[in-house]
Parts: sequence; C-alpha cells; structure tokens
Amino acid sequence: MIQDFPRRVAVLGATGSIGRSAAAELAEQPRRFRVVALAARRQLDELVRQSELFHPEVVVTTDPALEKELAARLPAGVHAAAGEAAMVEAAIRDDVDLVLCAVIGTAGIRPVLEALKRGKCVALASKEVLALAGELVMREAKKHPGCLVPIDSEHSGVFQALAGRRPDEIAKVWLTASGGAFRDWDPARLDEATFADALRHPTWKMGDKITVDSASLMNKALELIEAHFLFDLPEDKLDVVVNPQSVVHALAELADGSFIAQMSVPDMRLAIRYALSYPERFSGSVGKTTLPALGKLEFREVDHIHFPAIALARRAIAASGTMPAVLNAADEIAVERFRKGEIRFTDIWKLVGDVMEQIPVEEQKDLDQILACDARAREAARVWFRR
Ligand code: MG
Repeated sequence: MIQDFPRRVAVLGATGSIGRSAAAELAEQPRRFRVVALAARRQLDELVRQSELFHPEVVVTTDPALEKELAARLPAGVHAAAGEAAMVEAAIRDDVDLVLCAVIGTAGIRPVLEALKRGKCVALASKEVLALAGELVMREAKKHPGCLVPIDSEHSGVFQALAGRRPDEIAKVWLTASGGAFRDWDPARLDEATFADALRHPTWKMGDKITVDSASLMNKALELIEAHFLFDLPEDKLDVVVNPQSVVHALAELADGSFIAQMSVPDMRLAIRYALSYPERFSGSVGKTTLPALGKLEFREVDHIHFPAIALARRAIAASGTMPAVLNAADEIAVERFRKGEIRFTDIWKLVGDVMEQIPVEEQKDLDQILACDARAREAARVWFRR
C-alpha cells in the first residue's frame, strides 16, 4: 500500500553519504515527511545533528558501546536505543510508513525483510540487500502490500523508464556505466594500477569501495544482479553501456527498437527524492538543469575483454541461489586486499571468479544460510593467491 502524505519515515544508515543526502531532502519537505526513526553505526555527531533537526521518536546506534553517550546527547524526548535488533525494531514500528535503507554491508537485509513483511514501503540504497538476498527480498515484496523503490541511480532510472510497460514490450534493459577511473587507460597498464589510481572516479563522488568497484566494473556487475531480481528480467535481457557523462542512468529498449532513457544531473538526491515521493514527483533545491548544460551524450561499448566483471555477473545470475552472495563477498575481500597491496587490480576479477568456482551453489532458503555462505566466500577470498 502506497501511503499518502505526510509519510512517516525511518532512515537506516542515516550518517553515510546517502543518509546525509536523504536528510537534506527530508528537511526540504517538512509538510510531506515526518522522520520517526534514525539509525546509524557510530557517527554520533551526525546522528545528533539530524536528531536536533527532525526530533524523531527513536535514534539507534548499532554499536551497543555507544548507547549511553548517544542517550546523553539526544534532545529531550528523543529515545536512544542500541544494537542491530533495535534497528530492526525501528524499521517495523507501527508509526513508520516508509523505510529508507542505506546501511552499508549485510546489516540492512534483516530490517528490509521485516519491513516488507509488515507491508511497509522500502526505499532501497543498500547494495547487499538484493545482491545477497534478492530472491528472499522479492518474495516478501510481492507477497505483501508494501513497495520497494530503488535509490541507486541506475535502478531508479530503470524503474522510471519501465513505468507502465508490459513485460512483452521490453526487449532489453540497459544500465549505464561511467567507465570508472580506468576507462581511458591503456589496458596493458591495468596490472600496475594502484588503489589511489582506482579512486579517481570521473563523475560520481562516492565511498572508496564503490569507487574501486566502478573502476573494475564490479559495481556494474552487482547492479546487473540487483536489476535481475528487482525487475524480474533474465540475464540476456540485461546489458551495460558506457555513458561517460553519467547523465543517462538507464535505458529501456522496447520491442520495436525505441529506447526510453532516464536522464538527470548526476546527483543522488534526485533518485533519493523520487524513492521518497514515489509515485509523486516533487521539485527541490537541486536537480534542475537545462539540456545544453548536460552537454553532449556519448555511448561506448564496454570493454568486456579487459574488464570481465559483467561476465562474472552473468555467471552468478545463471547459477542463482547463493552465487550472487559469493560474488559480492569475494569482491569485498578482493577490494580490501587490493587496498592493502596484497593483490593487483586485475586480480580482483580472477579472485572473484575462482571463489565462485570453489563455493558450491545452494538454493536460497533463509538469511542465516546466505550469511553463512557469505562468510565461507570471504574466507576463501582471504586465502586466495594468484596461480
Ligand atoms: Mg549505481
């Protein structure tokens, strides 16, 4: 059931880059949204700042060691709570209509599942939720009257480009990629690429892990997996094209050859605002532009030979079950080991591919099983070495 306004919102992962942008959007629309709950890990300064801004009912730190300090710093009347279970409780409160989940890591999966089970709407930014538990999450989303609206720019683009289309109209869905830090590099030099090189993203400003994932296209691989679950599309109806300007976020290619593109300035606040306002659209202080200001639009093919990430995603989708979780876990450790200088940039794909071969695929049964599989894949990735 899609709630009318004002909507009562819980923001999980409130202090990260998506969470802060969400706070800015919510603060611009005080008559349409009421922030009821905030949750984050340990950036108390930002949590307290947002608590003073919104006066929510409850504020959660997932780190129990910080509960006392948080309680002491919150404005009068705002309740403090701690631990991951408290974050789940915040998401399923009776007075919450919409849960915005921007938690980094696997901690966002349980609150999203529980919120969907209770018919709440979820605005989803956490990659892990669909990458690890796509089958479980979509099962709950379809079974209950809530809704699931993506925040990632590409999926928001697909969601908008597909609105009102029948499945038989859709020939293909295209996710765009910026091409990442190495799109103009000589592929022969990729072996020597350093962590600092990988952090030079041409268009988006994001965290380290996702920026390295953009350079390796593993971010796009994860997004392909998410799109598979979110839009119920088989692997051969999903593809990736490079749009260096990051202005076109996604395209729906229709049966007759038409392309419906979703474009905007590359600012996450637009996708956040749409996920909050869906199916309505509100104007805000950012996002307006002119077409000439967007400049030229360019599309390039992905270099699948030197950047084999998309092939890994296709393998994970085809194998299904717990395989996407293995890909995600292996990549996380690979990026960490690349940061430490233990492996080369080009080893990221090799490591992920090898770990995917090593860990037997299982059908998705429940979250505990998926998390156990995630742990096995991490261990295998930690001990991987180049042959
Ligand atoms: Mg994205």
